[in-house]
Amino acid sequence: MNQTTLSTSLPLPDGSRRLSQSSPPAHTYLDKRVTKSQTNRRRTRSQGARERLATKEHLARLAVGLREVELAHKLKRCHSVVEFLFCPNKHIYRIVPNFTCEFRLCPDCSRRRSRKLQNKYLPMMRGFMLHHKVTAVHLVLTQTHRKENRKQSAKRIKDAFTRLQRRGFWIQHFKGGTWSLEFTKDKNGLHHTHLHIIGFRRKFFDIELLRGEWLAATGDSHVLHLKQIEDIATGLREVVKYVSKPLDIRRFGAEDLKEFLGLKNMRMFGTFGEFRDFCKDFEPSDNDAAAVGDLESLARDLVEGCACPQCNEPLFSLRLSNKELPQFYEQTESSPPGKVGTS
Ligand SMILES: [Zn+2]
Ligand SMILES: [Zn+2]
Repeated sequence: MNQTTLSTSLPLPDGSRRLSQSSPPAHTYLDKRVTKSQTNRRRTRSQGARERLATKEHLARLAVGLREVELAHKLKRCHSVVEFLFCPNKHIYRIVPNFTCEFRLCPDCSRRRSRKLQNKYLPMMRGFMLHHKVTAVHLVLTQTHRKENRKQSAKRIKDAFTRLQRRGFWIQHFKGGTWSLEFTKDKNGLHHTHLHIIGFRRKFFDIELLRGEWLAATGDSHVLHLKQIEDIATGLREVVKYVSKPLDIRRFGAEDLKEFLGLKNMRMFGTFGEFRDFCKDFEPSDNDAAAVGDLESLARDLVEGCACPQCNEPLFSLRLSNKELPQFYEQTESSPPGKVGTS
């Protein structure tokens, strides 16, 4: 990843460095977590498909246990059959599911949602950065752990962020951006709610000052992490990945699912500051799909028999059930070009 981590001890005017002695152990925890999520090795397609299937089966079982029959039914139907358009050289152009459940925790639907968010916001972010000559940072804000439910935990951190945005320091240094919520739960059942912010920064500042501001906004937390975003596409992908997607769904119990069902209308992603207004007036141009590299929209007119835009081989389509999918992907991962899906 093209992101550099800013040191927590920025140089002071006299050339010395301020030691971050005041950082509590929680800081170490956060740094590790943030680093871990960014160095995640890429899963292969087949592994991803297998994990998504297992996650959905798990969620459907929990839903049945909660007598959420309709939800269970929808989860089972969602992406149960998919149609592919691809070429013998593993270039896949279109994946059309038979049905999408749109349930927030469904891994197939959150992938689609995450792609949509990226396609929507990336052109706006690029436009905003060019227009205002600002740089982007990824800021993670955390709060102290309390005995509370997800909803209370989310409200507490969002309220604190609202207070932070009203402070002079914030207004002076940030021109807007996006926020998204990340939920996790520790072994003791305590919720860890983080806000991931892509902030468009007007100018540099000492991170210790920002810690002080966050402490003033929360009343009891100064734990945060900040890094410069070198490539906005990568930065956005990183942040969007957290949207409403707890890392621990497979370890979810019935109570967790019940709690999530209660969050139905809670917003998990949003824009703020001048970036928010910029988005309202933004007119996407025809080149944006190309700039984003959104194959789905570039390949909209392709049908079976057309030449693959990348290698000129003829495209063909195939219908597969979600149970067959991992094996199909495995084949594309291991077979040499020209032998994909022809058996
Ligand atoms: Zn779904
Ligand atoms: Zn091809």
